[in-house]
Amino acid sequence: MKLALFGAEGKVGAALAPVLERAGHEVKGIEIGDEPDVRGLDAAVDFTTPDAAPRNVRAALEQGVSCVVGTTGWDPQPLHELAAASGLRLFVAPNFSIGAVLMMRFAHQAAEFFPRAEIVELHNEAKKDAPSGTARMTAELIGGDPVIHSVRLPGLVAHQEVIFGSEGQLLTIRHDTTARESFADGVLLALERLDSLPPGLTVGLDSLL
Ligand code: NAP
Repeated sequence: MKLALFGAEGKVGAALAPVLERAGHEVKGIEIGDEPDVRGLDAAVDFTTPDAAPRNVRAALEQGVSCVVGTTGWDPQPLHELAAASGLRLFVAPNFSIGAVLMMRFAHQAAEFFPRAEIVELHNEAKKDAPSGTARMTAELIGGDPVIHSVRLPGLVAHQEVIFGSEGQLLTIRHDTTARESFADGVLLALERLDSLPPGLTVGLDSLL
């Protein structure tokens, strides 16, 4: 596919671009200050900031290009109509790592049997939003409004623990992202399935697994 990559020089973008190219995609990197010209491309991928993503996605949809978005901390719902009305897809996932999606799925299963849970999410200090999109989505899946602890420190990439507690026992479900290449499998899967999704907004990699 011919792809635009918004945020190609960011931490995720820089790890993602070579993997997309090795998989046979042609990648046009678009950085801050560049004209968001994506006309004629097959899809746009966005890993930027909560401020930039809505503008980039709107520009891509207005040029007739479907989007795969990993940027967290923004609400894609208002763009559903624009995408749906043009028969385009807007796929957004707070976590493109397949291991993290399984961690959320297992947490959802465990929640049925444990009355209490808390979430600890740990990310690099550069991450702009807290709590993380993954933590918020996990909380929704568990239900009951669990407390979320956000840790931001150098040395971390993206990690999350869901700790379930009941009388006399604890269950911890943990996922660690040790390199940003871990997000590439999910992005490739989303690109592969993009055309088979219903027009408009689809949220979460779980819906593709
Ligand atoms: P980052 O290193 O700060 O990268 C963001 C990049 O976007 C920077 O190069 C930035 O340029 C660029 N940018 C800012 N505004 C732009 C615009 N209008 N058009 C094009 N590029 C623009 O952040 P990151 O760690 O790569 O993370 C990016 C986003 O992805 C964050 O929201 C993060 O939470 C999310 N994320 C999601 C997943 C997932 O699986 N869904 C995984 C990891 C991260 P400047 O540096 O010049 O400002």
